[in-house]
Amino acid sequence: MCGIVGYVGEKDVSSVLLVGLTKLEYRGYDSAGIAVLVDGELVVCKKAGKLRVLSESLNKVPIEGNIGIGHTRWATHGEPTEANAHPHLDCKGKVGVVHNGIIENFYTIREKLISDGHIFKSETDTEAIPHLIEKYFEGNLKQAVLKVTEELEGSYAFAAIAAEEPDRIVCARKGSPLLIGLGDGENTLASDIPALLSHTRDILPMEDGEIAVVTRQRVELFSSTGEPVPRGPMHVEWKAEMIDKGGYPRFMLKEIHEQPRVVEAVLKKRVKGNKGVNFFTQLEMTNGDMAKVRRIVIQACGTSWHAGLMGKYLLENYCRVHTEVDISSEFRYRNPVIEGETLVMAISQSGETADTLAGLTEAKAKFLKVLSIVNVMGSSIARESDGVIYTHAGPEIGVASTKAYTAQILALYLFTIYLARIKWLITNQQAAEMVDELDSISEKMRKILSLEDTVRECAQKYYRARDFLFLGRGFNYPSALEGALKLKEIAYIHATGHPAGKMKHGPIALVDEEMPVVCIIPESIV
Ligand code: GLU
Repeated sequence: MCGIVGYVGEKDVSSVLLVGLTKLEYRGYDSAGIAVLVDGELVVCKKAGKLRVLSESLNKVPIEGNIGIGHTRWATHGEPTEANAHPHLDCKGKVGVVHNGIIENFYTIREKLISDGHIFKSETDTEAIPHLIEKYFEGNLKQAVLKVTEELEGSYAFAAIAAEEPDRIVCARKGSPLLIGLGDGENTLASDIPALLSHTRDILPMEDGEIAVVTRQRVELFSSTGEPVPRGPMHVEWKAEMIDKGGYPRFMLKEIHEQPRVVEAVLKKRVKGNKGVNFFTQLEMTNGDMAKVRRIVIQACGTSWHAGLMGKYLLENYCRVHTEVDISSEFRYRNPVIEGETLVMAISQSGETADTLAGLTEAKAKFLKVLSIVNVMGSSIARESDGVIYTHAGPEIGVASTKAYTAQILALYLFTIYLARIKWLITNQQAAEMVDELDSISEKMRKILSLEDTVRECAQKYYRARDFLFLGRGFNYPSALEGALKLKEIAYIHATGHPAGKMKHGPIALVDEEMPVVCIIPESIV
């Protein structure tokens, strides 16, 4: 993952780009750079290391201009060095490009261009793009980009500027996210919504295969063959204040503490005043069609996969629907047996998870209905699905999912109540009781969150452990997996989660006085 931004307008572009990149730092932080057009020349500043290094350098030597592109990198091809940091330029330094994704045929393109006399300065796959633009540029950047995209294989979202057409940024998207923020006398582009929110809430997500030409006054979308694509923006509800740390030292901590509020807001939106169980407006399947579903296949990655596993336990228990949970990268490559009255569900916080999106495409190619559970409005997965349940958790900036996971489980729980009711497996009274139970959740969460001191003491006691075991049965098994994942991802401590009953079939051999074992046993099942 990398983050890309672009801006054209009246403001000081370097500051706008830097602020945008700060909001995208979760997408990559091994190096960063910007390219700005100054008096018809491209001026580039790029640095290895965190964004701070770039901003310190720009403080010392500012670059003033009104149009530019920026990038925060998470390297796939080439070390995280200054030379490999984006933007990359063509031979003459007249075309600049920032890119998110992988150009799979870059080596062939690069060899060919080198034999034609092009000089490459980095080890990246990305650098093939500005050189290809240089090859095809005949005074029209859009036309050159169209030709370039015909040659590229792999995934990309890229933005290009050219000294010879100084009023525009031309961008292209295939497989990596790119959104355009529409402003008044200014336009912005970025890999994710938080980087746009301080400028606008009118956002035009690009679709795969599209090219966009962004000037101060206009944004034009074109298909891969250059035909105009008429499409308006969506208005996002998120506010700029939602994307600061709100007094917390880290986004993740802030987002953990946001959980009770998220639960309350979702219940208010979906449940309060609702007389039945039709909690969702965008399922795009009638209750009758939904009641006929005989099998559900949930496909997701990482934390969303754990939420999906929780969904399996819920759906099988209350709706008596056979439910499988697949890891999207396996689902998409395995040629799974999915047919008949099967509903495929895709779960993703960002709505851009590449494997989950590919799994969705696979399901649709087999003519199955796809219902997604997604946090980011208008994201690719939301757009491509037949129906969508938005989790309404607000922007999640922390890389490790917290409040969005809780909101996914809440969405699955409400979906379960809805499905169980329309299948006549629970009565109105039982549905009402299940919903009522949810009302007490946020207070319980607040109580747990107030135990920070106890949590700190535990961490102090165990942080030197090399391995952890997490155990849980039934609904608590996905929590055990999620706990282990969080410990690995955030504390860099090896951990595995297991169904409690499996403990004696292997993992127990590892347990000694050094190894902490976390057992998830809520009172209800003791
Ligand atoms: N492949 C590009 C690089 O390594 C972009 C990386 C990415 O988007 O993750 O520079």
